Amino acid sequence: MSDVTAPKVRKSDVEWREQLSPEQYRILRQAGTERAFTGPFWNSKEKGLYRCAGCGEELFISDTKFDSGCGWPSYFEPAKPGAVSEHRDTSHGMIRTEVRCANCGGHLGHVFPDGPPPTGLRYCINGHAMTFEPLG
Ligand SMILES: [Zn+2]
Repeated sequence: MSDVTAPKVRKSDVEWREQLSPEQYRILRQAGTERAFTGPFWNSKEKGLYRCAGCGEELFISDTKFDSGCGWPSYFEPAKPGAVSEHRDTSHGMIRTEVRCANCGGHLGHVFPDGPPPTGLRYCINGHAMTFEPLG
């Protein structure tokens, strides 16, 4: 039986630790959260592409980024359908929707239903979970 939501990129814990910085590892592989206003990109307005820091998959593009004031990079939709997977998260006494990279399963952040048009969604993503590739 195949699981369509299973990540394609699979590495051992040791491999991830070697590849990622301690902060990237804590967020992507241990579902950590960087402190608001401390990570990269939350106030960036540069044109470009945000990729998964774990596997390089295209996750978000600057055209969908907006200033949410929450201290993390926020987007109203992923770069392409299926780029991220969503999971019910009941940790910390809240019911939230966790967002992971669909390609490697790395934890990215959460999605909330209080974003701007056209989707009404706010993908609230840890900056350390991504790398940025300027365009143009
Ligand atoms: Zn990934």
